This record gives sequence, structure tokens and C-alpha cells, in this order.
Amino acid sequence: MTTIDAPQIVSELRATLRTARTRPAQWRLDQIRAVLKLVNENEDDIYAALHSDLHKSNYESFLTEVNVLVSACKSTMKNLHKWMAPEKKPIPLAVWPANASVISEPLGVALVISPWNFPLLLALDPVVGAIAAGCTVCLKTSEIAPATSALLARLLPEYVDTEAIKVVEGSIPEVTALLEQKWDKIFYTGNAKVGRIIMGAAAKHLTPVTLELGGKCPLFIDDSVDLKVASKRIMVGKYGSNAGQACISPDYVLVEEHFAPTLIKQLQKTLLEFYGPDPSASVDLARIINKNHFQRLSSMLDDPSIADKIVHGGERDEKSLYIAPTLIDNPPLDSPVMVEEIFGPMLPIITVRNVDHALNIINDKPKPLEVYVFSNNKDLFNRFRDETSSGGIVMNDCVLQFIIPELPFGGVGESGTGAYHGKATFDAFSHRKAVLVKNMGGDVFARYPPFTVRKQSL
Ligand code: NAD
Repeated sequence: MTTIDAPQIVSELRATLRTARTRPAQWRLDQIRAVLKLVNENEDDIYAALHSDLHKSNYESFLTEVNVLVSACKSTMKNLHKWMAPEKKPIPLAVWPANASVISEPLGVALVISPWNFPLLLALDPVVGAIAAGCTVCLKTSEIAPATSALLARLLPEYVDTEAIKVVEGSIPEVTALLEQKWDKIFYTGNAKVGRIIMGAAAKHLTPVTLELGGKCPLFIDDSVDLKVASKRIMVGKYGSNAGQACISPDYVLVEEHFAPTLIKQLQKTLLEFYGPDPSASVDLARIINKNHFQRLSSMLDDPSIADKIVHGGERDEKSLYIAPTLIDNPPLDSPVMVEEIFGPMLPIITVRNVDHALNIINDKPKPLEVYVFSNNKDLFNRFRDETSSGGIVMNDCVLQFIIPELPFGGVGESGTGAYHGKATFDAFSHRKAVLVKNMGGDVFARYPPFTVRKQSL
């Protein structure tokens, strides 16, 4: 049983769209300013909600959610007029005299379905994009991050135009009811299984979708790197955001056999430096989101195939949803940690014979969201860039690509379809409409029948 009236939500949003009040830049700017105000005036409540959902420290929440969202709002406001401006296009002689241009038209009534792992950022960032594009929008928050979901459901209506921007809480029945409606755009972030449900529902109405999905992000490292620096970047990329519950955190490491023991030793040192001898006492390590996910991760750890492979961490406490940062040395490629997306604080380190072997392991799996390569050898990086397919690829760092607005962020194949961030977010909610404006002069008589020999010889 659903708790919402989905047809009513869509019909109100469509009615507002038809008034054209979401079209002017001023309305869009006012609404984005309202989102900024919401964040500024409620920062403490936001940190409390994120701590309640994920045990994130205020600093981590600031770095990975609030600050990224505020930057997105500000850069959208700064660039909005430029993005909305028609793009003039050249015209061929046969069409002259005329003006050709491309304008960005709002796609219409948008649905944003967000996940639990960055429950503030991944909810409001696409909503800001929908507003910027002039759409009306319904946000469905994630029930798995209940504190942040409740906070957004309470606060958004206090700040924004509620006839144009709505929030819905709920779970599968509510999403199902929403998906039965006709939307002009669906923007979904979450796992690929549900991604298929979204795409199937959208297909019924030929609704365009952006699917921001996940997968197993591989990381290759060779012995040419500055290992101390590389180790810090890898460990913060893995554990620094949500204890590994992030779609772009490295999922597994590939390393040549001779370098594996040195690498593992350094990763252990870095973990000690970051989180101390008892990481459960560190305020800088997030917790697993809930019991279901704790049990999912526990069953991966309990798989007999990796019983003697855990070389660091492995401790856990179900009551506090704590799992220690864990390194797994060379688990079999068919073990659960190497088959499923981990989405938690475990990192398998797979030894490979050579670079070709590493490339084969990556290419045998579905296309990942990111590939990370740590090496001083640009040619080697280029091999990974050209011989694998992924949403993005990064040399010598992890995760930072996410905060560069000019880099479109999104997956390919199993890791997603479409992209956002910066202008790409605006584009995700816009239709690029071709506009040709002619006047009545300069008619070319050869275009009209009868097509006489004389006309054909021109
Ligand atoms: P989730 O469980 O919060 O689900 C996401 C949304 O889908 C929620 O709003 C939920 O209500 C809805 N949903 C869940 N099951 C449904 C069903 N059967 N039918 C209809 N709707 C349903 O989040 P999640 O999927 O656990 O998120 C983790 C996944 O998301 C990982 O795979 C991760 O890699 C991916 N992810 C991707 C990105 C990205 O930007 N590409 C960001 C974050 C997470």
C-alpha cells in the first residue's frame, strides 16, 4: 500500500509547469538561492542527521556533502545565464538568409530518486539541476537514510516553491506508484538491479533517464609510484567517504606479485596512521548504514574462500554496525568479494602476473564507474585508458574527479547511462531544441516543382 497520491503529485507539478513560471532565470535563481539558504541555516541539523544515519563526522559531512552541494549551487547560479543563452549556429547557403540556434528547453516534470549513501548531496544536487533547467521536480529520498530523509521532507517545503518542487518519503510501494506515472525525465541514483526497474518503467512512456549506478571500481598500482603518497590517497579514497560505502571508492586492487607484500605493509601503516590501533574508537570512520547491509558485508567476510586471506582488520560489531578497515590478500576471483560490488570497508588485493593480466581481469567484469591507475608511467596509464571502458579514469588519485564540475560524472553500461555535474546536470534536465528562423526574402526558386531541366542543371 502506498502512502502517497502519485497522480495528484504529477498533475500539480504539470499544472505548475504549464503556467511557465519555472521558465524565467529569476525563478530558477531564487529557488537555488533558497536551497543554499536551507543548507546554511540548518547546517547543524544536517550534520546531526548524517551522523545519525551514517555516523559521519561533521568534517566528513562538510567535505563530502555540504561543501560539494554548496559549490554546485554557487557555480550553477554563476553560469545559469550562459547555459540558458541560445547557441547560434552557422547556416548553409541553401538556407540563407536565416538564423539557426539551439535552445535548452526544460524537459518538463522530473522525478529524482536518490540513494542513502550521500543522502543530502545525491538528493539535492540533481534537484538543483532540474530547477536550473526550468523543470518542476519531485524528489524521492532514500528510506534507508531515515534521518536525512525526514529532515529534507520537513525543510524543503519551508524554503522552496512547493507547487514546483515536491519531496516524497517512502520505499518500494511509493517508488512503484511514482513510476506508474508519466514523467518527462527520471534521474535515478542507486544499484543496477533497481536501475533496470526504472528503465523498464520509463520505457512505457519513452521517458528519458539518467541512471547513476555503481559497480566494482578497479585500482592498478605499480612499483614506480611514491608509495607513501599513493597509499594515503588509496586509503582515503577507500575509507574516507562513508567507510567505503561510496560508488567511486576503489573496490579492489590489482598489483604485480613482487610488489604486493610491500604495498600491503604500507597500506597497513597508513591505516594505523589514519585510524589508530583501534579504528572503532576513531571519530573519522563512518559506520555501516543498517543491519541488512552489515549482514550482507558479514556474509562476504565469512565466506570460507577467504577464511585465511584477511591480513588486516576483519573485526566487527553488529550492535554498533562497525566493520574495521579490512585488507584481503588475494581472494579467489570467484569469491563474493570479487564478484559483487563490496560497498563497504573491505579491500581485496589481487596479485597479477603482469599488466595484460590486470587488463583482462577488468575487462572480464561489467564496465565500472571508475578505473584508478597509480604509476609514474604515462604510457602504462594510457593502456588502461584505451584498453578498458569505464565512466571515468584517474591517474594517481582517487575520488577527486567527483568534485570537478567540468568533468561529466556518470557510468557506462552496467555502471550507468547519462552523466551530470556542472553544465552536464543542466543538460540532463534539458532538451536541446533546434530553432530555425527565416524571413520571407531570399527565396531559391529551384527548390519548388516542377523540377525542370533548367532547375536541375543549376
Ligand atoms: P537505495 O537502497 O537507497 O535505493 C535507491 C533508491 O531506489 C531509493 O530511493 C529506494 O527507495 C529505491 N528503490 C529501492 N528498491 C527499489 C525497488 N525494488 N523498486 C523501486 N525503487 C526501489 O540505494 P542503493 O541502491 O543501495 O545504493 C547503493 C548503490 O548505488 C550502489 O550500487 C552504488 O554504487 C550506487 N551509487 C551510485 C552513485 C553514482 O553517482 N553513480 C552514487 C551513489 C550510489
